[in-house]
Amino acid sequence: QRAQCSNPSGLIGDSSQCDYETVGKLNLDFSSKLHEIVNMPFFRYFKVNLYKECPFWNNAGLCMNEDCSVETMDRSKVPEQWRTKHLAKVSISSNPLFGAMPVRPPVKEQDFCIPDSNVDEVYVDLRANPERFTGYSGPSAAMVWKAIYEENCFDVSQEMTAGCQYCDSERARLKENHVGHSEDHEESNILVPPEPAPMKHSNPTKKEMDEIFSKVPKDKMELNRLVQGIAKDGGGEESCLEKRVYYRLISGLHTSISIHICDEWFNQTTGEWGPNLDCFISRVGMHPERLENIYFDYAVVLRAVSKISDFLAGYEYLTGDDSVDRNIIASVTELVNLVKESPPTFEEELLFHASQGPKGRQLKNQFRDHFRNVTRIMDCVGCEKCRLWGKVQTQGLGTALKILFSYDNASLQGHKAVNILSRSEIVTLINTFNRFSESISAIERFGIMYKEELEKE
Ligand code: FAD
Repeated sequence: QRAQCSNPSGLIGDSSQCDYETVGKLNLDFSSKLHEIVNMPFFRYFKVNLYKECPFWNNAGLCMNEDCSVETMDRSKVPEQWRTKHLAKVSISSNPLFGAMPVRPPVKEQDFCIPDSNVDEVYVDLRANPERFTGYSGPSAAMVWKAIYEENCFDVSQEMTAGCQYCDSERARLKENHVGHSEDHEESNILVPPEPAPMKHSNPTKKEMDEIFSKVPKDKMELNRLVQGIAKDGGGEESCLEKRVYYRLISGLHTSISIHICDEWFNQTTGEWGPNLDCFISRVGMHPERLENIYFDYAVVLRAVSKISDFLAGYEYLTGDDSVDRNIIASVTELVNLVKESPPTFEEELLFHASQGPKGRQLKNQFRDHFRNVTRIMDCVGCEKCRLWGKVQTQGLGTALKILFSYDNASLQGHKAVNILSRSEIVTLINTFNRFSESISAIERFGIMYKEELEKE
C-alpha cells in the first residue's frame, strides 16, 4: 500500500508538510530503484576537478591515507557524447562575504552551484570510490564544516525578512581574517582553525539509547515541538524561514555524510568494514534535530525530482548503444512514476515569499550566492574521496535548489524543459537522492541493531 501524507499541517516543517514516517515509507519504494539506477554507467561516471586550490584559505596537509585517495578512469571508456567541452573564461562574481573574486563560467543566473573548470578534470567511477570512513578529521575537516555553516548569513533586514539579518559581526570578523583567494596566500592571513570537536566515544546508557530511538521517527509530538523551534545546533526560533531552510539543508547533508561514515566504518581491530552503532549514536542518534534534517533534505530532493520528472523521463541518455539507452529510460521512467504517485513533500513557493518584489529577489539571490560558495568550499576539503563526494552531494543539492527556485512548474512541463540540466547536474541530483535514501535506510538498520543490543543485555 502506498504511503500517504497523513498530516498535511506538516511535521517536518519549514515548507514541508510531510511527516517523518511518510518519508520513511516512501523510501521503501524508492531505494531499490535508485540503487539500480546509480549502478548504470550513465550515473556512475562523473567528471570532476579534484585538484583545484582552496580559494578561501591555505590548505596545508592533505589526508594521505590510502582510503582518502580516488581511483580515476580512463577517459576512453567514457562515451564521446558525454565528454562535453566548454571554454573556461574568467568572470567576476560579487560575493557578499569575500568581495569580488574570479569564477569560471558558465554560471547561469539560475545556477546554485559554481561548476568545475575543465582544467585538470578527471572522470571517476563513483561506484569504484564509495563514500565511507576515510579517517579524515581534525582541524581541516572542522574548518570546512565551520565555513559551510557560516555561509548562513543574509543581509536583507526589512520587515518581510525579519530575523534574516544575522551575523554581521561574525562576517566582519571573517573578512578581517580572510585570505581572499588563492593569489593572496603569501599574505598569510589565514583563518585560525577551530579546535576539532572531540568524538564522544563513551557508550550511552540504556536510558539514553531508549530516548534516542524512541524519538525517531515515532514520537511525533516531540518531533513537532523540535521542528517548530528548529535545531539546537543552530538556526534559532527567531530566524526567518529561508535561514532555517538553509541551515537544515546543510545540517541534513552533514548528517548524511556522518551516517555513511558510521555505516561503512573501518574496524582497525578486525580489519573489516561494517556499521558502527556507537559512531552512529554519538554523531547522529543523540541529536534528534540532526536526524530530522536528513529527512528534511530527502523531502526537498524528492520534491525537486518530482518537479523535473518529465524532463528526466524524456532525456536522451545517449550511451552509444540503443538497448542500453532503452534500459536507462525504462528504469528512470519507473522511478519518476513512483515519484509522481507520492504526496507533495515540499512547498518551495512558500520561500522568498516576496520574490515578485525586489526584497524577495534579493534574499533569493543571496541564498543562491551563499550556496554557490558552499560548492566552492568543497575545494578546501583535505581528502580526495571526501572532496569527491562532497562535490557530488553539494552539486546535487544545488541542482535540486535550482529546479525548485529558478523555475516554475509550467516552465518544466513537457518539452519546455529541454537543456535545463546538464549531464553532470542529472548525475549529481540522482546520486544525492540515492545517498540520502541510503541514509534513511541506514537509520532503520541502526534502529534494529540498537534493539538487538538491548535484547542482549
Ligand atoms: P564533525 O562531523 O566534523 O562535526 C563538527 C561539528 O559540527 C560537531 O562537533 C558538531 O558541533 C557539529 N555537527 C555535527 N553534525 C552536525 C549536524 N548534522 N548538524 C549540525 N551540526 C553538526 N570523513 C570520512 O571518514 N569520510 C568521508 O567521506 C568524509 N566526507 C567529508 C566531506 C566533507 C564535505 C567534510 C567537510 C568532511 C568529510 N569527512 C569525511 C570528515 C567528517 O565529516 C568529520 O569531519 C570527521 O569525521 C570528524 O568528525 P567529528 O565527530 O569531529 O565532527
